[in-house]
Amino acid sequence: MKAELKQLIALQNADTCIRKLKADLDAVPERRAEIDKEFDQRAFEFKTAEAQRDAARERRASLEAELAETRAKAEHSDRALMASTNEKEYTAAIREADAARKHASQLETQILEQMEAVETAEKRMAELEPEVAKLRAERDEQLAAFELSVEREAERVDECRREREQLLAELPKPMGALFNRISSRIRNGVAVAEAKNGACTACFMSLRPQVMADIRRGDEIIICDNCNRILYYAGSAAAAEQAQTIS
Ligand SMILES: [Zn+2]
Repeated sequence: MKAELKQLIALQNADTCIRKLKADLDAVPERRAEIDKEFDQRAFEFKTAEAQRDAARERRASLEAELAETRAKAEHSDRALMASTNEKEYTAAIREADAARKHASQLETQILEQMEAVETAEKRMAELEPEVAKLRAERDEQLAAFELSVEREAERVDECRREREQLLAELPKPMGALFNRISSRIRNGVAVAEAKNGACTACFMSLRPQVMADIRRGDEIIICDNCNRILYYAGSAAAAEQAQTIS
């Protein structure tokens, strides 16, 4: 029985390892984003200039499109002017062509302004570039180290899963089933708990001296009346060592 209790504890350790690593691995996108966010914060001024450049480029592109349309409109008015057969048509065409040319000239001014804004932003970016290159290299290093640690976590979780399967296969079937039943019912999945100083360390319920003595002997599986966990006594050095890795 003592050997089986040890196996149950090892099984619990494997489960705890799997659960913790799985939580870490589930959080990988957020952990990665955190590194990017830190870079963005440190490179704030550069990022601002970059955003200003992009906005100015976009604005310029839409102004260029509007200018092309306006020029087409002016040409259309010119043709209408040539084809006009009376005073009224003639005056309307002149007015339209004038308005279009005036608008085109305003657009050209605005385009120049956006080109200047792009230039200013690019100049600021160039000034900040050496510093940002350093920050970028640091971030890339951090990301590479992070990916490596994620890889190791993934390997370790596989190891724990294999270990769990093996432990479960070695245990008598009813005991394995009991463990799985308890572990699936309990919120944090911890199915075994240490009995210490006359109490269950998981739910703090006190245990009768007789029960405590039975647990200490370890001849049979004893379950906490209150939280339904399998109780063990970590008196021996080996068991205590095992137990430490659980808590
Ligand atoms: Zn308990």
